[in-house]
Amino acid sequence: MDYSQQGKILGMSKIPSAEDQLEFLTKIQRLFNESDFSSTYKYALLISLADLVIELGKDDDSELELTNRQIAERFIELYWQQSSPYKTSKAIDSGVLYQNHGTQAAIIRAIQAFRDENSFNSPNAAKHSKEYKKLVTAVAGTVAKQPINYLQNVGGGALPFLYERNTSSITLKIGVAYCLRRFQPLVQQLARSRWTDYIKKNAKNMPILGEKDDLNSFLFETSRKTLALVCKELKVLYGCKCFYCNKATTELEVDHFIPFSLYPRDLMHNFVLACPSCNRSKSDSLAARIHLDKWTKSVKKNDEAVKQIGEVIGIATNLETSLSIAQWSYGTASGGHANGWVKTGQYGGLKK
Ligand SMILES: [Zn+2]
Repeated sequence: MDYSQQGKILGMSKIPSAEDQLEFLTKIQRLFNESDFSSTYKYALLISLADLVIELGKDDDSELELTNRQIAERFIELYWQQSSPYKTSKAIDSGVLYQNHGTQAAIIRAIQAFRDENSFNSPNAAKHSKEYKKLVTAVAGTVAKQPINYLQNVGGGALPFLYERNTSSITLKIGVAYCLRRFQPLVQQLARSRWTDYIKKNAKNMPILGEKDDLNSFLFETSRKTLALVCKELKVLYGCKCFYCNKATTELEVDHFIPFSLYPRDLMHNFVLACPSCNRSKSDSLAARIHLDKWTKSVKKNDEAVKQIGEVIGIATNLETSLSIAQWSYGTASGGHANGWVKTGQYGGLKK
């Protein structure tokens, strides 16, 4: 019996069968191992797809259309920090890291040119400007011509298992959005670690990289300086107390409510203040349901203020996106019977 019949009989929304999911993973693995990665674009495309399905997809096997512009906006976010110079004291040179083996990647050059001509501190701050829309158009063109065009060429042949290409969009095939949502952390981690390796192995980057070992955080994380600003602003908004234990203290740290290891993209609504002890203890765990309820209420109530902080500091903000990421994280985790972090040494349910 194929899974569509199974779904119909059970009267539930259809989901891919276990075999289909395994086949998907096998193909993803082939893609990473047998594809020709002549630049980092394919990693960026995989990360973008895995992000977009969390925000826009559903927990069934339906197809999902994503426009080239939606994908291009994710590319700009991913490459924004990477288009600025990587500086380290021990290196011979300081410069923008090479993202391919020929001349610098076109998308990096386009973002650099945009940043040279405009004074926006982030894609989020730039998003309403006419110039930014032009940048999206240019990046969408490159994305369509290159990674979208070539991603499904694997091991010298075609393996078109992810999407169909349309004029200005792609359509994720039946079951693909479901599998990408289900295996999002795995796809993200693979793509990020291969991307970091690619940059390290590119001989042209040797003089820039030096011996410092913070490449991964430079490529994918919000800088400490920016996080310090977030901390300062959240203290003004929420007062100096820990989100989790309510302890009043000025020694607060910024915590990713949905752990960064689970969803590695910084969104302003996902930041809370935690005392060092709660922060250390929670670590990469998902917080228990009581904390989720508190967080949901808090971000809805403070939406405007949080949005403003994000715009000033330059961190992406979108309440709906943050809520759907939370829903996805808790849905995935409670399916796997995981426990949530309540407080130091105590774990509890994730379900309602
Ligand atoms: Zn605490």
